[in-house]
Amino acid sequence: MRTTTALPVLTLDLAGLRATKIAVDGAKVAKFAQRGTKLVITPKAALAADTPVVLDIRYEGNPSPLASAWGEVGWEELDDGVLVAGQPTGAPSWFPCNDHPSHKSSYRISISTDAGYRAVCNGSLVGHTTKSSRETWVYEQAEPMASYLATVQIGRYELAELAGGAHAHSGAGSTPGSLGVPIHAAVPVVLLVDAATALAHQRAMMDTFVQCFGPYPFRGYTVVVTEDELEIPLEAQTVSIFGRNHLSTSWEAQRLIAHELSHQWFGNSLTAGSWRDIWLHEGFACYAEWLWSEECGAGSTDSRARAAHLMLDTLPKDLVIGDPGPELMFDDRVYKRGALALHALRCVVGDGLFFTVLRSWSAEHRHGTVDTPAFAALASRVCASVDGFDAEALLKPWLYGTALPSFPGS
Ligand SMILES: [Zn+2]
Repeated sequence: MRTTTALPVLTLDLAGLRATKIAVDGAKVAKFAQRGTKLVITPKAALAADTPVVLDIRYEGNPSPLASAWGEVGWEELDDGVLVAGQPTGAPSWFPCNDHPSHKSSYRISISTDAGYRAVCNGSLVGHTTKSSRETWVYEQAEPMASYLATVQIGRYELAELAGGAHAHSGAGSTPGSLGVPIHAAVPVVLLVDAATALAHQRAMMDTFVQCFGPYPFRGYTVVVTEDELEIPLEAQTVSIFGRNHLSTSWEAQRLIAHELSHQWFGNSLTAGSWRDIWLHEGFACYAEWLWSEECGAGSTDSRARAAHLMLDTLPKDLVIGDPGPELMFDDRVYKRGALALHALRCVVGDGLFFTVLRSWSAEHRHGTVDTPAFAALASRVCASVDGFDAEALLKPWLYGTALPSFPGS
């Protein structure tokens, strides 16, 4: 780590596990204490500002899920394996960290499992060894990653490469740049056939999103399918996790497969510095679903947007999606209305500038930390040629008002 300010005391997050030994730059620390979910470390001398520091924390215990306002999060056991659902506050269930979306780091994760299991973590597999009845898997995530996106998935998974599948609609054509991204599925043997069917369009989704959002921001993408049913799919950096119940060719399943992939750009590469800007993840991912809908012939983006607007009109209009508060940060209105804010932008500036905005946004803030004012500023700059256009004013009623603006363009 590198300190940003002088630190007499360091506070990290760690829940349900016990720290046993801590060293700062090789020297045993004076003292440390665990209070609730906080790990408070007092080095022998205060750490100076803007200084590189090696912090070595040994800890132990049996990780378990953490109760939260959003249900159980973090490390949890499957019938035959392990799943990590880090978003938004689950990371401290398995490692000590500063569990804040603005705190990004590179990661190296080494994990030993019983033989016959595969561990899937973030980034690239850089080592795999088998010793008697244990297998060790080592992954490196070189690009910066927020703690909630760190993951370990363990199961009796077979790894299959997803090649170019049937492209339902030829509109996007081939997109150089996505072809080199390795896409894999980690799936229990019994689900391999179902997964091949349900994920047949994964490569085409990748092509579509590369065209709409710019180059894929990481070195690979792995879809994990658990043998258990899961209530909702999850995103992690370079990995998405689905339950067996999501292996369907229905729109409801396909939209989720598209949604999770798009989070690699919006959420994982470009991460909101504060959860209040969650629409920058979920509104964009919802819009990605609608883009894929049009691409695969399941309904135009505009028709999806209209349906969402009609639906939102039937729901209470009391949520400010630009600051929904912790309880409602995953409310469906944040997703749909966030996507409609983007559709409103597109309707005003036109397709050419709109997609230039999305690609510039992805490129200029690649692997970075973002907020809503930065998006508005970028959109205003990119669309400066549109007479009198002000992105902040356009987005304001969608993001910071409660009344539902009329459908864009109507
Ligand atoms: Zn999402």
